[in-house]
Amino acid sequence: MSLYGGIEAGGTKFVCAVGTGPEDVREEIRFPTTSPEACIRQSIAFFEAMRTSHGPLAGIGIASFGPLDPNPASPSYGYITTTPKPGWAHTDLAGPVSRALGVPVGFDTDVNGAALGEFRWGAAQGLHTFVYMTIGTGIGGGAMVNGRLVHGLIHPEMGHVLPPHDRNEDPFEGVCPYHGDCLEGLASGPAIERRWKEKAEQLPEDHPAWNLEAKYLAHGLIPQIYILSPQRIILGGGVMEQRHLFPRVRQYVRQILKGYIQSPAILEEMDRYIVPPALGNRAGVLGAIAVAQWAAGKAPIG
Ligand code: ADP
Ligand code: ZN
Repeated sequence: MSLYGGIEAGGTKFVCAVGTGPEDVREEIRFPTTSPEACIRQSIAFFEAMRTSHGPLAGIGIASFGPLDPNPASPSYGYITTTPKPGWAHTDLAGPVSRALGVPVGFDTDVNGAALGEFRWGAAQGLHTFVYMTIGTGIGGGAMVNGRLVHGLIHPEMGHVLPPHDRNEDPFEGVCPYHGDCLEGLASGPAIERRWKEKAEQLPEDHPAWNLEAKYLAHGLIPQIYILSPQRIILGGGVMEQRHLFPRVRQYVRQILKGYIQSPAILEEMDRYIVPPALGNRAGVLGAIAVAQWAAGKAPIG
């Protein structure tokens, strides 16, 4: 079995691992997201050491925060592009890794990576059309449609749809630097913290924060449901550690759809329609390994 390397490039931490899948992650390191130069150097050093101890790597996958350029035909392919994260705008991430290690390098969004990981080994096995969304520091989504990850013009930005915002019920103006009260502006972890002046993880289950959160998330899923017709929606990220959100989100989704989508998946089996990632908090790094396998031509999709 060929060994692959994965880099989960997050806004707060990097995770690098080598392995073949969830049952076989040989080694893993994590380090804080400091400067691009330091993170790239640490990642390359890790894979060089892994080659020495475990043998050759057949490919590397990078699943990164964005916005980024995943189009191999573009001059800025492999770059993180316009991120507001200090020091990281217009950073070539895939280029230096590929040059240093001389193996095929796959490059995609963190959420497309997680979607691919869930497709190979998790909650989306056997499906051809589904959505993976993360609700964390930001809100983002990846999608597979008819067996291919969606890139399109650049890549989807599912976190910036506009849920209805009733300012009488919720006067909070939102935290998105671009849009204020888009989904990410109203429902990301930092939005919850700013609105309620308490970290999301500290708010008790019966706090009014959670019904409001569930309503916004449901409104954020509706466009995906109507437009992509996903067979399943996977919700990951720190905020979704609040497992009581799942039944609430499902209920709001059902309410908003008003019975219009006539599928048993939605009418009867909503518990299996909107679900947590089966790979849990390993979805990111395993997704990166899945991206590596796809880049090396060992996975039938992309
Ligand atoms: P990131 O988005 O940076 O990759 P996370 O998905 O963990 O990382 O998201 C971090 C955000 O999620 C923070 O705003 C944090 O307050 C929130 N969060 C983390 N854990 C929980 C939890 N158990 N319950 C609610 N919110 C959480
Ligand atoms: Zn926005």
